[in-house]
Formats: sequence, structure tokens, C-alpha cells
Amino acid sequence: MDLGISGRTALVTGASRGLGLSSAKALSNAGVKVCLASRSIDQLSVAAQELSSDCHIIAADLSDPSSIQSMLEEVKEIFGVVDILVANAGGPPPGNFETTATEDFSEAIQLNLLSTVEMCKGLIPEMVDRGWGRVVAITSLAVREPMAQLILSNTARSGLTSFLKTTSTEVAGAGVTVNSIQPGLHATERLTELYEDLQGVAANVPTGKLGNPDDFGEVVAFLCSEQAKFITGAAIPVDGGAAKGLQ
Ligand code: NAD
Repeated sequence: MDLGISGRTALVTGASRGLGLSSAKALSNAGVKVCLASRSIDQLSVAAQELSSDCHIIAADLSDPSSIQSMLEEVKEIFGVVDILVANAGGPPPGNFETTATEDFSEAIQLNLLSTVEMCKGLIPEMVDRGWGRVVAITSLAVREPMAQLILSNTARSGLTSFLKTTSTEVAGAGVTVNSIQPGLHATERLTELYEDLQGVAANVPTGKLGNPDDFGEVVAFLCSEQAKFITGAAIPVDGGAAKGLQ
């Protein structure tokens, strides 16, 4: 399927591995010119080899607002215009109400909420001016069903989802869509770090399997497609049926 975005430009953050890298690969396969950003330039150099065509890489720490601003300046220097933003970062550390300090919330909110706000502020106005843009944020199924021991993720990502929904209505008329995708359990290195028994974890997913990161990337690419222009303000679970509610 031709996604109609060949020649477009994209910034994908948290892209040195996992769901961010898979999203970058799918966009690259669709003919999009991609810039990968993450903290380690060495890891990005390795990751870049997995893309089907040449790409750019930028070292940026999304927990640091000044690093985000430098990244935005650099990507605009490279591409001139940025048509697509895939906003992603690592998840915050686990913890519950009792074990999590107030300052931990500030850090999680910077990494998993404000970083995306800053990237949207830096890129959406020019998308609006040009009459075309796509923003896809990778959040978590925890927005739909807050998870025990992930109080930081639950809190920051719910706020981000509300920000995206509000923003989407303001820019929809200008041809800019703003959505999030809520991953359920996918077989990435993050999951290996969180759980010892991955087969046991998969048994709790209705499909009986963990998600394939490359399939997830294809969903991201579709949301960035020309055909997806009528999908905006959505928060879409990709979870093998794990979410139990109707919404
Ligand atoms: P991952 O940990 O495998 O990859 C995260 C990426 O973000 C890496 O490239 C890492 O280098 C980068 N990153 C981390 N901190 C950063 C920072 N401060 N600045 C810039 N880049 C940074 O994670 P993943 O499994 O690919 O998941 C992506 C997102 O989806 C995470 O936020 C994760 O919490 C969330 N999520 C994942 C799953 C899953 O099953 N994999 C489920 C629910 C939610």
C-alpha cells in the first residue's frame, strides 16, 4: 500500500531501539526522509543501519529542555521543514504512591509529557503554515488502564494524552493530525528489563503473544499516511486485546 508520504520528512525520537526504531524503519520503507534522535550517537549509528535508506541522526536528551531546542534547530537545518513528528522516549522508572517522591514526578513529566509539548510547540506552527502535518506520540496502555507500580507513567502519559487531544482540535482545520498510540506489551528491550518471564507475561495477553515492534511501526506509519488524514485526536491501543474496557 502506498502511504502517499514518500519524500516527506520525519523526526523520530527515542529512536535508537524498540518502538521508536521500528516506527523510523516503517517510515523509511514508505519513502520518508527520517531523522533519528536519542541520547547516544553511537547507538543511533548502529540503529541507522537498520533503515532501508539513508537517514540523519541527532544526539538529544529529552529530559533536558535545552537539548530539545538544539535538536529542533538541527533537524530544521537538515530538512528545512519537518512534516512528521513521532514523539517517543523511554518510560519512567517503576514505583507506587508510597515509594515515589514528588521530585520523581517532575522528572517523569519532563520526559514523558513536556518533551512532547516542547516538540509540538517547535514543529506544529510550521506544519499549520504549510497545511500538512502529522504528530504521533507513543504513550502506553496505562493511559487507558492505569497500572500498579507505574504511577509515574500513568500520571505523565494521561496528561500528555489530554494535551494532544486538545491540540488536535485546534489544528485539524489546517491539515495537521495529532494522535497517540498506546502500546500494550511488545517484545522490546524495555520489556526484557522490566520482566524476567516474558512467556508468562505474554500468557496474560488475549492473543497469547507479545506484540511485534515492526508491526507497531507499521501502525505508526499508517497514522502518518495521506489516507489517515481523517484520524485525529485519537488515542489508539495496539495491545493484542489487553485493554478490557469498551473505550
Ligand atoms: P525502549 O526502552 O526499548 O526504548 C526507548 C528509546 O528511548 C531508546 O531509544 C532510548 O535510548 C530512548 N530514550 C530513553 N530516554 C531518553 C531520553 N532522556 N532522551 C532521548 N531518548 C531517550 O522502549 P520501548 O519498549 O521501545 O517503548 C517505547 C515507549 O513506549 C516507552 O516510553 C515505553 O515506556 C512505552 N511502552 C512500551 C511498552 C512495551 O511493551 N515495549 C508498553 C507500554 C509502553
